[in-house]
Amino acid sequence: MNIRSFNGVHLRHYKNTESETTVAFPLPARVVIPMGMGMGEPCVPLVSVGDKVFLGQKIGDSDAFMSVPVHSSVSGTVKEIKNHLLHGGKLCKAVVIEPDGKQIPHEDIKPPEIKTTKDFINAVRESGAVGLGGAGFPTHVKFSYDNHVDTLIINAAECEPYITSDYREMMENTADVYDGIKLILENMHINRAKLCIEKNKPAAIRLFTRMTAKDDNIDVVTLPTRYPQGAEKMLLFSTTGRMIKENQITSEENALVVNVSTVGFLNRYMKTGMPLVSRRLTVDGDAVGMPCNIEVLIGTTIGDILDYANAENYRKLIMGGPMMGVCMSDPDAPIVKTHNALLALKSDDTPVSSPCIRCGRCIKVCPVNLMPLELERAYNTKNKEELLALRVNLCMNCGACSYVCPAKRPLAETNCLAKEFLNVKSPKEMIK
Ligand code: SF4
Ligand code: SF4
Repeated sequence: MNIRSFNGVHLRHYKNTESETTVAFPLPARVVIPMGMGMGEPCVPLVSVGDKVFLGQKIGDSDAFMSVPVHSSVSGTVKEIKNHLLHGGKLCKAVVIEPDGKQIPHEDIKPPEIKTTKDFINAVRESGAVGLGGAGFPTHVKFSYDNHVDTLIINAAECEPYITSDYREMMENTADVYDGIKLILENMHINRAKLCIEKNKPAAIRLFTRMTAKDDNIDVVTLPTRYPQGAEKMLLFSTTGRMIKENQITSEENALVVNVSTVGFLNRYMKTGMPLVSRRLTVDGDAVGMPCNIEVLIGTTIGDILDYANAENYRKLIMGGPMMGVCMSDPDAPIVKTHNALLALKSDDTPVSSPCIRCGRCIKVCPVNLMPLELERAYNTKNKEELLALRVNLCMNCGACSYVCPAKRPLAETNCLAKEFLNVKSPKEMIK
């Protein structure tokens, strides 16, 4: 197959946990479940302090189009409903639950009845699914777009260093991924699927190539290891040659891009009716004594996980990968649906910047052809017109420009600030 290339960078991968089979994380003493865990509007709590709740019970919902319900990851008692700080500085409510240790499922947990595409999309919403690759886009909203979709692209690139959670999903839940692809093809009436895996995961490529050998409508696509290969825009371009225009999402280019762990989860949900109450997390970094992959209940606190993985003397905690992850300081912060990795590092190596030497490397690597050095200059002079003219809204904060800059300019970080300054929403967030 003809794979198109884009700008970007080659990274060292540090996939130390790729052979670590996922283990179930022990039931924590309490869970903190935020009502906002992805893109879109936070939910409103449906429970009160003192209520008894069950595993998989819906405890938050919202009428907003861009929202998905939130479910309890334990059976137990609601102890507190408190304010929770989301990335980006906004507040939402979080439900604190003390488990009873029994993990009794809620009586409504049963496989959904699917007869039509609408039933399927409703079931996807009720499952609480969001993109498990980290972006957190509500999955049912992708499926609801009214364009004719001809290609389902399964995103198994996992191009960030350290993270192996999608890889372990493919290796451990192979049948769920395979059946999940067929489930989406059938219920969304899509003709063809492309399972896209970076070539640094040869065992997964071999496994799925064998498994899909008789399926004319499923291709296993081997992608070059190039960052940010797993970004939706890049994946769509590499595999189909289609380009997403400003303010578009992939459905408007007749393609659905779904993360591979989301596909596996949806298949399990359709079989059991158990909503998204746990997820796989890679725990790694040079301060971690026991790098691992764990299946962790949503709402488990980071401190509990660091203790479990024997993390010591860390100076930097990152939720996600080193390129696009978010630094954390609060060990009481909970794991949410979008977290695929927790890194604990001994060094906080905040780089010291020197003046730009106008080498142009940042421009050369930008996958969406922006001019990061000019964007930084425009932000530093607070020039709104220039920031808009330079299309800061297209920056996906991949960090490739900061990574290659010999002067260690905080380019990607500046673009985040610039977008806040302009109150720019991502194309996806603009969907109403
Ligand atoms: S990579 Fe850094 S030093 Fe080179 S042009 Fe860009 S901002 Fe300037
Ligand atoms: S962070 Fe933004 S400006 Fe920098 S390389 Fe990525 S997309 Fe381009």
